[in-house]
Amino acid sequence: MVADLFGIGWYADVIVVRTLVLNASNEPLSVVAARRAIVLLCRERADLVARSNRVWHAESVSFAVPSVVRLRRYVPVPYRRSIPISRRAIFLRDDHRCQYCGRRAENIDHIIPKVQGGKHIWENVVASCQRCNSRKGGRTPSQAGLTLIRTPTRPGRFDWVYVAAGGYADGAWQPFIRSQLTVNS
Ligand SMILES: [Zn+2]
Repeated sequence: MVADLFGIGWYADVIVVRTLVLNASNEPLSVVAARRAIVLLCRERADLVARSNRVWHAESVSFAVPSVVRLRRYVPVPYRRSIPISRRAIFLRDDHRCQYCGRRAENIDHIIPKVQGGKHIWENVVASCQRCNSRKGGRTPSQAGLTLIRTPTRPGRFDWVYVAAGGYADGAWQPFIRSQLTVNS
């Protein structure tokens, strides 16, 4: 049955859909391609928590494409996962907007420039447009007459889910990401 799931039509349609995998404890564990989540369900390794509005039709069977699944057995997580600082992650946090003027961002800016001792940490990096970035140069925002739209912060404990999913997050994921943030942060 599982082999049938890799029919060409299904593969083409569902490959881009992502499923949130919860640990047996309800904590977000990973983000996988929906086809992988369907295999987990078929092998009875996971239970369906929320389905998406997409349906995959095969010759004799149709599946609601899962949006959230929960593993039946708890997988120990040996370390606290944190989000590495990357261009992609910073752009996601800052909504791809320049944090000085609100235009579309193209660069990463160190608020206190490295030449003035600024560190490469979440609280000191923001997305910025080319114009603000060159105007600022090696200066601080106040030295360059620029003001930040908002204070940059370190992402929450489960914000890696958004990064792992490339910025896509189904509405059905929110309660699991948010409740964990409230409990653990
Ligand atoms: Zn700008």
